[in-house]
Amino acid sequence: MLALARRFFDDFAATVFPGRCIVCRAATSGGATFCDDCESKLRKSESRPQCRDCGSPVATEDSPCQRCRGRGFRLFDEVVNLGVYAEPLRPLVHRLKFYHGWSAGEILAIRAAALPRVRELMRHTDVLVPVPLHGWRQITRGFNQADVIATQLGKQTGTKVRRPVIRLRQTKAQSLMTNRLDRLKNLSGAFAVTRPAALRGKRVTLVDDVMTTGATLKALARAVATAEPAAINVFTIALADPTGHTFEAI
Ligand SMILES: [Zn+2]
Ligand SMILES: [Zn+2]
Repeated sequence: MLALARRFFDDFAATVFPGRCIVCRAATSGGATFCDDCESKLRKSESRPQCRDCGSPVATEDSPCQRCRGRGFRLFDEVVNLGVYAEPLRPLVHRLKFYHGWSAGEILAIRAAALPRVRELMRHTDVLVPVPLHGWRQITRGFNQADVIATQLGKQTGTKVRRPVIRLRQTKAQSLMTNRLDRLKNLSGAFAVTRPAALRGKRVTLVDDVMTTGATLKALARAVATAEPAAINVFTIALADPTGHTFEAI
């Protein structure tokens, strides 16, 4: 009963009220999803140039990336996101994750599908693979935000979504672990490929809501790599600065 009541509250909290901004609840004009202020902040965040190798913001399209210096991530071919994990993407991701906001997932996927860098990534993608939750967590939560994003993005761009990987065990929240070795131990062997044929020779794009250190996505990529895909890319809604400074220096 309690679960049912909570589900009802979650649904209610995630409801999009017509005429109200989905981020800040300010009045919007003409049935728009965002108020003018949030819309312009979102556009600014989306149009900020990014490093194709690591997804970090860069000053201009051709400026060198201060974070990866052109080296990118060894495991990933391309890394793309909608913007930095800060206002107004942060409250949108929060709504998607904690209030099961399917509508927020759809709105974010529609915006992503309209962005040139995401369209280009989809041209380099044969299959989208959402980061799976551990079985028990999926049952208790009943919702996987990465799956919602992948499903909606697949629908918007006509890209296949496949789930050929399972999460073998629940990993502890990475943010609670400061020791690099603990983080690696926490994630090694966390994922296993159950249907390698769905990945072999394919250009795979892994999908999640937020990338911070990339530890979870790297662990998933290591499992996916065993099926010998042609490429492994990453798409996330937002990129969080692992130093917690929202890339202010860039
Ligand atoms: Zn707003
Ligand atoms: Zn970079």
